[in-house]
Amino acid sequence: MPVDPSSLRVRLYPDPILRTKARELAGVTDEVIAVARRMIDLMRAHDGIGLAAPQVGLDWRLFVLDVPPGERRSTEGPNPTASRGVVVYINPVLSAPAGGLEPYEEGCLSLPGIRGDVLRPPTITISATGLDGKPFTQTGSGLLARCWQHEMDHLDGVLILDKMLPVFRLKNRQAIRDLEESV
Ligand code: ZN
Repeated sequence: MPVDPSSLRVRLYPDPILRTKARELAGVTDEVIAVARRMIDLMRAHDGIGLAAPQVGLDWRLFVLDVPPGERRSTEGPNPTASRGVVVYINPVLSAPAGGLEPYEEGCLSLPGIRGDVLRPPTITISATGLDGKPFTQTGSGLLARCWQHEMDHLDGVLILDKMLPVFRLKNRQAIRDLEESV
């Protein structure tokens, strides 16, 4: 049965769909385009900079993002750190990153009220198919690279809860418990 995009809502932890490994999409159909558009609307409505399909209840390897410019970081080099508007990534794949790990604070629309530092490589390359059906590859740093890796984790059922430095897991303990008890 085709997905009704208007029925899609942002799912909150501990919804089991957030722990599901998403499957590759066979192609960019009208259904995929309609879902991606709905996800962009939901991302904007929630003031998010990224949203992955499992976060709206679909086990699809697809995410959308809109990473704004403005943040300057010490590691900034020649690569973009913002997305220049909305981008849709279908069946994305990340390259093996070079260099070490850096801490940076992350939040998640599926984990309201929870923020904490996660270690990730600061520069990475992503390959995906766009909404126009064409493959593309980009290398990014800073917030953009961070967002790619956060959204990719969603496609594998991984949440920032799993990767947060222990001190932040402790800090967010009550908020996590509140979410778990709200279902
Ligand atoms: Zn998230």
